[in-house]
Amino acid sequence: MSATETISNYIGGQWTKSSATESQKVINPATQESLAEIPLSTAQDVASAVEAAASAFPDWRRTPPEERIQPLFKLKQLLEDHLDEICRIITKENGKTLGESRGEMRRAIENVEVACGIPILMQGYNLEDVARGIDETMIRQPLGVVAAITPFNFPGMIPFWFLPYAVATGNTFILKPSERVPLTMRYAFDLLQRAGFPKGVLNLVNGGKSVVDALLDHPKIRAISFVGSTPIAKYVYARAGANGKRAQCQGGAKNPVLILPDADMESATQIISDSAFGCAGQRCLAVSVAVAIGEAQKTFRDAIAENASKLRVGDGQDQNVQMGPVITPQSKTRIEDLIARGAKEGAKVLVDGRNAKITNRESGNFIRPTILEGLPQTSELAHTEIFGPVLSLIPARDMDEALAILNSSPFGNQASLFTSSGAAARRFRYEAQAGNIGINIGVAAPMAYFPFTGWKDSFFGDLHGQGRDSVEFYTDKKVVVERWAKEHSRKF
Ligand code: NAD
Repeated sequence: MSATETISNYIGGQWTKSSATESQKVINPATQESLAEIPLSTAQDVASAVEAAASAFPDWRRTPPEERIQPLFKLKQLLEDHLDEICRIITKENGKTLGESRGEMRRAIENVEVACGIPILMQGYNLEDVARGIDETMIRQPLGVVAAITPFNFPGMIPFWFLPYAVATGNTFILKPSERVPLTMRYAFDLLQRAGFPKGVLNLVNGGKSVVDALLDHPKIRAISFVGSTPIAKYVYARAGANGKRAQCQGGAKNPVLILPDADMESATQIISDSAFGCAGQRCLAVSVAVAIGEAQKTFRDAIAENASKLRVGDGQDQNVQMGPVITPQSKTRIEDLIARGAKEGAKVLVDGRNAKITNRESGNFIRPTILEGLPQTSELAHTEIFGPVLSLIPARDMDEALAILNSSPFGNQASLFTSSGAAARRFRYEAQAGNIGINIGVAAPMAYFPFTGWKDSFFGDLHGQGRDSVEFYTDKKVVVERWAKEHSRKF
């Protein structure tokens, strides 16, 4: 792509110019270089994508599951063959390091691999003789046209939390990626085209709120998957529900980690630092509140402050860099304002990453790792998602107090504990009110064959993304009760 090129939509098996009259620039967050122009597509573009998907559905649902997964096997190989190129695009438009882009794409590919198991995953069950001579069978059928709306922070992985399962189960699919990072899916859809999916099975519409609203209101769309911030997740869930659609909406987070004095402090510090500052803290599973318990307070404080101060910040394309920029200048300002608010609410800025100057990248959206010490639990910031490289330290006397702090959060995406005690780990697993739990793990991201289980304000819906939940989400159950007359069977 060139800076002046406007990205097309992908509808009915071909790249199609949007009818949009408005567009916006895609910007490299490390350099402010303009990478391309993205159309803010219209309801008319969405309607064309829905028509293409609806026309493709009858044939695609009749295609045997074994045949439906063949393009996914090809896609897996194409993604492996073009991994370096995709990772370069992710790093350019999102800012994360090349290593982080590679990690993200591994999970994307893993979801393609799991969806290749659909001939087994989609099976129903049956029982002969539920009454004399009567048999009962449960079968799963695809819904029809389904859509996904995804955020900026994982341009390669998050669309693949949904796409492979949606089409393997026999649905046709429309994706609206984040308007801030559309280039990764621009490239991936070329690979999807080469993988051999029939026309209309996969469609891509670029844009912002107007596209989302048109997807939510279109009567032919049966289900919506959403990942993004909590206010938009709530909005999407409510509007999809009001329009009679099935919805799974993953929201924001504020993930706590508890550190007990018996933890291996050296490895805990390294793992927590990677979690808090990796991807510049723009990960929905980033640790953002560290609750050190009793004697762990001083040792952890000193160790994490030293670790955070040493991280090499810069352009993610540079192999030596450990942390890239945040996504936009507005994000940088918002995060720096929140750091100031924390200080105003009573925290000490133990490590201050504001006003970062990066040689040769002066215009990038850089914030260095930041640590707020002693943020009062009652402060507003203690419950506000920052989504940047900022870790708040909150002290606790004991496990009771630490769990009370953890469970007071409105979010429930992830909670972690560092300890060498099995009993403490069991209590934590049992009592922590979050869906993804890490024991001596900093980013407890479920593998593709487990559901991604946010709770509370981090998730609206009941069936999660990935694995078996996806199969349930993308199918309707049908139960058939059968009786055949005896006279008829005697003839044979
Ligand atoms: P966002 O909510 O701003 O945008 C997400 C999607 O919603 C985008 O496609 C965007 O175009 C669309 N959108 C934005 N504003 C809208 C509006 N007013 N009406 C309709 N649609 C709108 O989120 P983001 O900034 O792209 O991503 C960061 C957020 O996503 C963070 O809050 C993070 O915690 C969350 N996130 C959550 C998970 C999870 O698994 N729970 C994973 C990744 C990111």
